[in-house]
Amino acid sequence: MAKQTKILLDESEMPTSWYNIVPDLPEPPPPALHPGTHEPAGPEDFAPLFPMDLILQEVSMDQYIEIPEEVQDVYKLWRPSPLFRAHRLEKMLDTPAHIYYKYEGVSPAGSHKPNTSVPQAFYNKKAGVNRLTTETGAGQWGTALAFACSLFDMECEVWQVRASYDQKPYRKAMIETFGATVHPSPSDLTESGRAVLAANPDSPGSLGIAISEAVEMAAPHEDVRYALGSVLNHVLMHQTIIGEEALLQLAKVGETPDVIVGCTGGGSNFAGLSFPFLREKMAGRMNPTIRAVEPAACPTLTRGTYAYDFGDTAGLTPLMKMHTLGHDFVPDPIHAGGLRYHGMSPLISHIYELGLIEAISIPQTECFAAGVTFARNEGIVPAPEPTHALAAAVREANKAKETGEETVILTALCGHGHLDMAAYAQYLTGDIVDHDYPEEKVQDALSRLPQVG
Ligand SMILES: *Cc1c(COP(=O)(O)O)cnc(C)c1O
Repeated sequence: MAKQTKILLDESEMPTSWYNIVPDLPEPPPPALHPGTHEPAGPEDFAPLFPMDLILQEVSMDQYIEIPEEVQDVYKLWRPSPLFRAHRLEKMLDTPAHIYYKYEGVSPAGSHKPNTSVPQAFYNKKAGVNRLTTETGAGQWGTALAFACSLFDMECEVWQVRASYDQKPYRKAMIETFGATVHPSPSDLTESGRAVLAANPDSPGSLGIAISEAVEMAAPHEDVRYALGSVLNHVLMHQTIIGEEALLQLAKVGETPDVIVGCTGGGSNFAGLSFPFLREKMAGRMNPTIRAVEPAACPTLTRGTYAYDFGDTAGLTPLMKMHTLGHDFVPDPIHAGGLRYHGMSPLISHIYELGLIEAISIPQTECFAAGVTFARNEGIVPAPEPTHALAAAVREANKAKETGEETVILTALCGHGHLDMAAYAQYLTGDIVDHDYPEEKVQDALSRLPQVG
């Protein structure tokens, strides 16, 4: 058989349901809690933020949820996305491993984010919402939501983390091209933003602060809602189309993965790729090792505490039990802006606690080195976030070289880096440094975790 590089599905083979892993888990995840009473949060506690369709998905015990036809139609602008075998990278690494990457950079935003921004805009529009507010770190989520809102004729207002706002002017331009409004966060438009600026006028911002600002601007208004690009159950579920497609694609070439690696910020692309495979693993049909990869400068799973914490800095969201570095932790401004979140998805944190997945952290220079090697062999310049997954894939490929095993490695190349070239320029001139994990700063932030009895 000729060696296949690009494994494609027809439009007619695109999966028509999302996969909800919750009913398949040996134990249910701990509930979210009301921030005031600390009682389990009910649908009404989420109603100021999200439309009921999404709230019901958030707590659903259905194993599969059908993708609305209107959403499927939009998905077909770029889905099914290609699965590639990295033949040239394998050759360059001189490894017997088979390296596969599922490429989500083919979407309009250049990442996996539209897989959830489109259904989120759709369900909001259906509920009569006219405007969505949100935060964005690297700018990928802001772009994806702006794109989705433009399709459903909705307004969109984005708070972009200051460090990224300054580093990535073209993300802002792209968000504005899709018709949305962008503010640097912290901003003086909200109480939460003004409080941060009063304490530190030069704050580089954080996802937690930007979430507070976007939530504050949505909650009081009937026709304004908030959209989150990661972390929550419904977001992870929307991303499972990635893994469902990859399962079909690998089956076409008769392979099953031995190792699945994915980068984790809030966990959505990693969950999207791995949850369908974890379903197969729990059912005894395959046995891949599934590993989350996070930045050494923001090591939520590997060094954070598993505790109830707020999703945002100001403490406006329900409390979620998750791996956290503390809701007011401000990570160093590393270039993988999408991975700089203080918490990890509660669902992934729970699955990690159950021992169903592993986690490691990698410093950013090793990640950029893997990104450059990948670009020079596969022709795609990866976003800084998935270079973490690529660095882990390279480690696995090197291990396979030592053992001589034909390890099948699967990863999500969840976005391209075309708007991250300033970061690559810095790397190529030797100006990227590895940030130490600031233990004191984190202990300090953890000392302010909410006390839950
Ligand atoms: C947003 C983003 C991430 C981080 O978010 P997850 O929810 O962990 O996937 C990673 N990579 C890219 C390209 C992103 O846009």
